[in-house]
Amino acid sequence: MSNLQALIGYQATDKTLLDIEKALAATEERKKYMQARKFMKNAQAMLETYENKAVALTGELSRLEEQYNGVAAELKEFSEIDFQELENSEGGTAFFKKNALALADTLRSLKRDLASVREKMEAVTKDYLDLKKKTLVMQKQFKEYKEKYALVEQGKAAEVQEIRSRLAGMEKDIPADVLERYKTRRKEGLWPVLVPLKGDRCGFCSMELPRAAISKLNEKGAIECENCHRLIYKE
Ligand SMILES: [Zn+2]
Repeated sequence: MSNLQALIGYQATDKTLLDIEKALAATEERKKYMQARKFMKNAQAMLETYENKAVALTGELSRLEEQYNGVAAELKEFSEIDFQELENSEGGTAFFKKNALALADTLRSLKRDLASVREKMEAVTKDYLDLKKKTLVMQKQFKEYKEKYALVEQGKAAEVQEIRSRLAGMEKDIPADVLERYKTRRKEGLWPVLVPLKGDRCGFCSMELPRAAISKLNEKGAIECENCHRLIYKE
C-alpha cells in the first residue's frame, strides 16, 4: 500500500472515532457535566469577590457611622448653648447658627451615604447567598453527571479501543513526519485533516497553490495548505 493510500485509509478509520467523540460530546450527560464543571470553576473566585466586597463595605459603614456620631455629638453641643443669652451679647448668634446649620447639612449628607452603603451591603449579601445556593445545586449536578457521563463513556469504551488499535496498526505505513502533522491538526480540531487537490487549489479552502508547492506535492505526496493548514494530497 502506498503511503498516500495508507493515510487516506487512516483518516477514514479516524472518522469513525470522530463520530463517536461528537456523539459523546452531544449527550445530555456530557453537557450537564461540563456546565457544572465550568460553574464550579468560577464559583470559588466569585464567592471570594463577594466576600471581599462585603468586607470593604463593612469598613466603609463603620467609618461613616463614626463620622456621623461625631457630627451628631457636635450638633448636640450647639443645642446646649443658650441662644437667648447670646442674642443679648455683643457678637450676636449669626456665627453659631451658621455653624450649626453646616453641621446639620453634613449630618444629612452622611445619613444619605450611610443609607446607600447599607443598600449596597444588602445587595452584595443577597448576591452572595444566591450564588451560594446555586453553587450547592451545581455541586450536586457535577457529582451526579460526572458519574453518569462516565457510564456513557464506558458504554463506548470497547468500540473506541477497537478503533484506536486499528489506527495504531495503520501507523507503520505512514511516514512519521506526516503522521505527526496529521495528529497535531486533528488535536487542534481541524476536520477533515486530509483533503484532495482540486485543480491547483486546496480542496478545503480553495486557496490557489503556488507552482513550487505543487511540484513539492508531486514529490512528497502531501503538503500542508498555508491558509487552512490541512494536508493536501493529489488524487
Ligand atoms: Zn486550504
